[in-house]
Amino acid sequence: MRIDRVLLENFRNYQREEIIFHPQCNVICGENAQGKTNLLEAMVCLACGKSPRTRADRELVRFGQAGLLLEGAIRSRERDFVSRIEAGGGRRKKITINRVPAKAASELSGVLNTIFFSPEDLQLIREGAAQRRRFMDASLCQLRPRYAAALAEYSRLHEHKTRILRDCIDRPDLIATLPDFNLRMAETGAVLIHYRSRFVRRLARHAASAYSECSGGRERLQVSYQTVRTVTDPLADERVLVMQLVEHQRAHHYAEVSSRQCLSGPHKDDMEVLLDGLSAKSFASQGQTRTAALALKLAARELHQELLGEYPVLLLDDVLSELDPKRQEFVLNRIGGGQIFITCCEEDRLHTLLQGNVYRIQAGRVAGREETDHVSASGRRSDHPGG
Ligand code: ATP
Ligand code: MG
Repeated sequence: MRIDRVLLENFRNYQREEIIFHPQCNVICGENAQGKTNLLEAMVCLACGKSPRTRADRELVRFGQAGLLLEGAIRSRERDFVSRIEAGGGRRKKITINRVPAKAASELSGVLNTIFFSPEDLQLIREGAAQRRRFMDASLCQLRPRYAAALAEYSRLHEHKTRILRDCIDRPDLIATLPDFNLRMAETGAVLIHYRSRFVRRLARHAASAYSECSGGRERLQVSYQTVRTVTDPLADERVLVMQLVEHQRAHHYAEVSSRQCLSGPHKDDMEVLLDGLSAKSFASQGQTRTAALALKLAARELHQELLGEYPVLLLDDVLSELDPKRQEFVLNRIGGGQIFITCCEEDRLHTLLQGNVYRIQAGRVAGREETDHVSASGRRSDHPGG
């Protein structure tokens, strides 16, 4: 899928700008605070109806204006779509797809999917398990409807059980309800482990190969799934997983009641990320951290393509800084497949761009646009041998 054109009206610092894009590579460059990230944010909005940066639509409306309009001409599933969002002005958000009003913002994702990389995603490597769990959950919810349902059910059960554990000092009768919650949490938890383990197995393969290509084969990335200790093989049959989860719950029953916390279950899962055998969280350099986070995103994009048949649009915000020239060259030229948008400040590496458009953004306007077409003999970006 690809975005052929966008129109932004009173969106962030854009007054009215219509932009036609390259089907493969689009580099958005400019000085700080000119509107590069805002442009990518608009594309995420067109894919899911909300901003990755704020919950308040009001913030998206250009200062001093009443409402905003976003329009995207999108090619997807071999068809052309026009998605439109009108928001602000105190009215309900209005979304249409090919002029037909959408019932829910989620209909937009039936047309356009994006994978957005922003500097905050470095937390995927640097921070605790919660960030990586969120990444697994968000990717799987897009790809597997059964997973989304199981995750919602598990969160509900987890919240309820936590409330019981909290209140059972004053109301000891509540303890009697725990076995029922435990069993349902084990059953739903087994569904989560089933999907997460398979997801991470495939993700690990793609992430390792993206990392190796980006680093010129010098470093090795390993990603593995970590779940409840009693689960000996997370890829095992769900019935086995249920039994092993119940076993863990039994062993932690007294600890849960005395700490009044839910200690057992896949809500503590993690993905371990190793670079050349060392924990990336503790030992990766800045460039390695960025490369590893990027590799995870690129891998999620490959899985999306494998499972749904089309590459989502890749939005890379400020990914080039801290990368050495070889790694920058990889990002600019060797991410094959679908359409890509890359924002950057420095223009020094752009002379290595083989094929694509470069847009210069100044104060919410496209101040310049250049087309690059130094295509390799076979005409494919991904065929370039690299730096
Ligand atoms: P950097 O290189 O520093 O990341 P950028 O080009 O990505 O910069 P953006 O995040 O896109 O910059 O934001 C550019 C400007 O948009 C900011 O200076 C901000 O004040 C302005 N801005 C944000 N929201 C609005 C709004 N609702 N109305 C008008 N301007 C806004
Ligand atoms: Mg920015």
